[in-house]
Amino acid sequence: MSFMYRSTRNKEEAVTASQAILKGLAGEGGLFVPDEIPVMDIPFTELAKMDYRGVAYEVMSRMLTDFTEEELKYCINGAYDSKFDDEKIAPLVKHHDTHFLELFHGKTIAFKDMALSILPYLMTTAAKKNRMDHEIVILTATSGDTGKAALAGFADVPGTRIAVFYPKSGVSPIQEKQMVTEKGKNTFVAGITGNFDDAQTGVKKMFSDPALAKELDEKGFRFSSANSINIGRLVPQMVYYYYAYAQLVGSGEIRPGDKINIVVPTGNFGNILAAYYASLMGLPVNRFICASNDNKVLFDFFKTGVYDRNREFILTSSPSMDILISSNLERLIYRIAGNDADKNRELMKELSEQGKYTITDEMKKALEPFYGNYADMDTVAETIRKIYKEDGYIIDTHTAVAAAVYDMYKEETGDMTPTVIASTASPYKFTRSVMTAIDPAYDSQEDFQLVDQLEKLSGVKVPRAIEEIRSAEVLHKTVCEKEEMESVVKKFLGI
Ligand SMILES: *Cc1c(COP(=O)(O)O)cnc(C)c1O
Repeated sequence: MSFMYRSTRNKEEAVTASQAILKGLAGEGGLFVPDEIPVMDIPFTELAKMDYRGVAYEVMSRMLTDFTEEELKYCINGAYDSKFDDEKIAPLVKHHDTHFLELFHGKTIAFKDMALSILPYLMTTAAKKNRMDHEIVILTATSGDTGKAALAGFADVPGTRIAVFYPKSGVSPIQEKQMVTEKGKNTFVAGITGNFDDAQTGVKKMFSDPALAKELDEKGFRFSSANSINIGRLVPQMVYYYYAYAQLVGSGEIRPGDKINIVVPTGNFGNILAAYYASLMGLPVNRFICASNDNKVLFDFFKTGVYDRNREFILTSSPSMDILISSNLERLIYRIAGNDADKNRELMKELSEQGKYTITDEMKKALEPFYGNYADMDTVAETIRKIYKEDGYIIDTHTAVAAAVYDMYKEETGDMTPTVIASTASPYKFTRSVMTAIDPAYDSQEDFQLVDQLEKLSGVKVPRAIEEIRSAEVLHKTVCEKEEMESVVKKFLGI
């Protein structure tokens, strides 16, 4: 069965999966969404016998219908190999009746590796299929984790270049060091004097500038995106929810068909949307628990039906979720509007002009499977301390937002459905916040001293990603205003 991907803002714009991956973003700022979601017709007892790659093939082949079996297997085998420091790729570990799906065993120790280790393969394969001979220029805005994961994925991949913009004072010291020490010859990294939304808006502006596209085309370049607006990131993210469910069936924790809850620490709404798409494909899910930090736009939205970004942007201890415009929510809005591109375009126009929009009561009803709540920084620190004290397991600040919100959910509803928490980063990536949550006295120590202390407390070996940057040289020193983003990209490309 094959289907097209259509723009959320223009029903006439439809492309194949490989073309959607190449383009990243549709015209007029729209996002590509699948015209239909196929049904997973393989029993969970069969999926439970497969390794990560096997499950990845079953899920991805149903979603990316114009890729051949040979092409997809080449992509999957290239991506999910010994780069991951756990042979399960995404191990599911149980603590206190809760299952943590550890998505941080890749090269840059955050969940972004799950999709960004395969995106370069998908993209270069898509370029070949579509006989596209321009050099692909990946433009990326990052709240900290996408940047390094995209750099690691695309570094020195022939036929590609990558430029990354991050908020200069909005990422953790280790996140920044990971990015500015990137060695790939085709890479460019710049801090901007603004926040993540500024970076994302600047990147989207370059994407939708026809004059710039023409100029690039003449010089043999074409933009694409490694942000979670690219369908080539969303589809690989559906895989691990299937894999987690299959693991639960395999270990006898649940029976095939039993429902589970999924808790996701959310920023751009990509990870939780992938879980939602997986459920549309047949994964039995009871509630999608959307956990936010102090930037609680989504909590307010689920409660009131009003999306309102007109508020203060708060820098928190979970910087990868410091976002006021959750781009992927647009895909859900489009769906609950009855796949109506005109209605969706209107709402998004309101968002860009007034910073807010209101959905209808009927649309709000369709949001019932979602539960939203948020955890402030004190609650996050308390949660890290509590879980460590209870059983010695140390989680990062983002995962702690999810764990804290899950506690609130249980308290409020009494629901005891088996639950999977998406564990999105290694605690080593946010060492200072994690260690001072356990004991504020740690704050007097240097970053890498804290890394060694964390190793002692957790008994988990310091990951390669951290060892590598201890003494690495800073290679990227550009800092620019958000208005200068286009000119620094041109300079990088030599045009
Ligand atoms: C990106 C990120 C998130 C948020 O994921 P979205 O798909 O943007 O909602 C949460 N935690 C970590 C560690 C991240 O890097």
